[in-house]
Amino acid sequence: MEIVNYFKAKTVEEAYKKLQEDPSNLIIGGGAWLRLSSKTVNTAIDLEYVGLNQIKETENSIEIDAYVTLREVEKNEALSNLFSGIVNKGISGIMGVALRNLVTVGGSVVGKYSFSDFITPLLAVNTEVVLYKAGRMSLEDFLKLRTKEKDILLKIIIQKEEVLGYYYKMKKTGLDFAVVNVGVTNTLGHLKIVVGARPSLAAFAVKAMDYVNNQETVTDEVIEETANIAINELKFSTNSKASKEYRIELAKVYIRRGLKEVTK
Ligand SMILES: Cc1cc2nc3c(=O)[nH]c(=O)nc-3n(C[C@H](O)[C@H](O)[C@H](O)COP(=O)(O)OP(=O)(O)OC[C@H]3O[C@@H](n4cnc5c(N)ncnc54)[C@H](O)[C@@H]3O)c2cc1C
Repeated sequence: MEIVNYFKAKTVEEAYKKLQEDPSNLIIGGGAWLRLSSKTVNTAIDLEYVGLNQIKETENSIEIDAYVTLREVEKNEALSNLFSGIVNKGISGIMGVALRNLVTVGGSVVGKYSFSDFITPLLAVNTEVVLYKAGRMSLEDFLKLRTKEKDILLKIIIQKEEVLGYYYKMKKTGLDFAVVNVGVTNTLGHLKIVVGARPSLAAFAVKAMDYVNNQETVTDEVIEETANIAINELKFSTNSKASKEYRIELAKVYIRRGLKEVTK
């Protein structure tokens, strides 16, 4: 990537204005993913001085600013005590500490990376995003959003609900990307199943969730059927990491394990 100008914004307004000035202008988070690209950027806009670097715990939620690094989120104690620690666990499986000290929440959410070990657990709990222009919306809606309008992610908000969680990243080697990743949660009896790196972006297994949430008890047979519905409704495919068939088998195993774990 070639950056022609580097702009350290002092306010979000200033950053937003600069972002609109040229189609190639962009916000830079940790820059770790951007630097792999070959594009030329007129102005890279740095958010270091705009004050988006806090993790705030309120009575009902954890609010994490966009410029916070994944390492800070991973180490956050309040978050590690919620949802069986699946958000922290997801992050801890990403490369090494050096990278996690650099990469940001903003870059990791806005990038909508299909392999993301951050988005899958966030989707399995109750997460919203707050954008400067588009405002507040669920993470699910944000992931589906297809717009050319350039915006700035200000923060994510995670509701502090009573959740039992499970997260598993299947990878071939310690530092690798996920072959498939699975998040399963139980919020006071309501089950959610998320599968990412299929290799497409994390998504809910909606039909499987409908089925399992309408059963009186979650028996082994129900778990088996739920996993079957999930792998049939979600789209899996082949890439250099794994075949479609292998991913389907893995997803089935981890969905089963997740359901067992959060319902035992
Ligand atoms: C070698 C390598 C291996 C990796 N392995 C994994 C892995 O196994 N699992 C995993 O989950 N992730 C992995 N990642 C991704 C990493 O965790 C980050 O998600 C990624 O680097 C983006 O974060 P960043 O801060 O570097 O964003 P940047 O590269 O700075 O930006 C990424 C995108 O987000 C935009 N952006 C950044 N902040 C904002 C904002 N506040 N508002 C609007 N737009 C914004 C940028 O304009 C750009 O388009 C890996 C990354 C690298 C480089």
